[in-house]
Amino acid sequence: MARIYPLFSSSRGNAAFVGTPSGGVLIDAGVSAKRLRDALSRAGIPEAAVQGIFVTHDHSDHVSGLRVFCRQTGIPVYAEPKTRENLFSCHYVEPDADVRTLTEPVTLCGMTLTPFATSHDTVQSCGYRITMPDGQSCAVCTDLGFVPDSVKDALRGCRLVLLEANYDEQMLRCGPYPDYLKRRISSDSGHLSNVQCGELARFLVQNGTVHLVLGHLSEHNNTPETALRTVTEALHGYVCGQDYLLDAAMPEDGRMIAF
Ligand SMILES: [Zn+2]
Ligand SMILES: [Zn+2]
Repeated sequence: MARIYPLFSSSRGNAAFVGTPSGGVLIDAGVSAKRLRDALSRAGIPEAAVQGIFVTHDHSDHVSGLRVFCRQTGIPVYAEPKTRENLFSCHYVEPDADVRTLTEPVTLCGMTLTPFATSHDTVQSCGYRITMPDGQSCAVCTDLGFVPDSVKDALRGCRLVLLEANYDEQMLRCGPYPDYLKRRISSDSGHLSNVQCGELARFLVQNGTVHLVLGHLSEHNNTPETALRTVTEALHGYVCGQDYLLDAAMPEDGRMIAF
């Protein structure tokens, strides 16, 4: 059975394992190597099971643990071309690290990982759709300022989606961040609000998704209760006759979710 382990999901650090304890991949490594190793151990995933690390983009909450973890384990990294360049130039990896250029879908451990472009304030960013050996798909889709049709197409039919619900609009507006940061977060190359997440959630549940896990919640501008309430309201009344599960990933999430 296909599994996803959210491990870490917040503005402070992101990493998810997809696969089984006998083989799978990490999406991002945005916490220290020690914390990542401890989380894998607690989840019962041996390090040897990690066959690759797929990077979404070069922000530190997604790659801060990469350099040490890769140096210690030699696990190959996969990144899109401009992200790969930045991983080296910003010293997120050692100069001799095994970082492979991602230009098309890659199959590892029987899973096919297909990157899709996201709109975010960096040189190149992506989410991943992951198709498992049994044909079921899941996706990791965070760090995007808006949802173009290309993202909807990439996610269509995924059974499970780890989906960004970064901020509540009112909490951001009234919160402690300086104006320039508020503008950045809410821009088309920032993060998804709970309302934007709800609109996408409605599309997904109408197109085959049965489990939505809200992720990358801001610790200052959101709470799990607020995000879940907004997305539930977006789904209520529009999604009839379909069963779905909706929950929120914790910043440190020890769960295994089968799909
Ligand atoms: Zn980012
Ligand atoms: Zn992020």
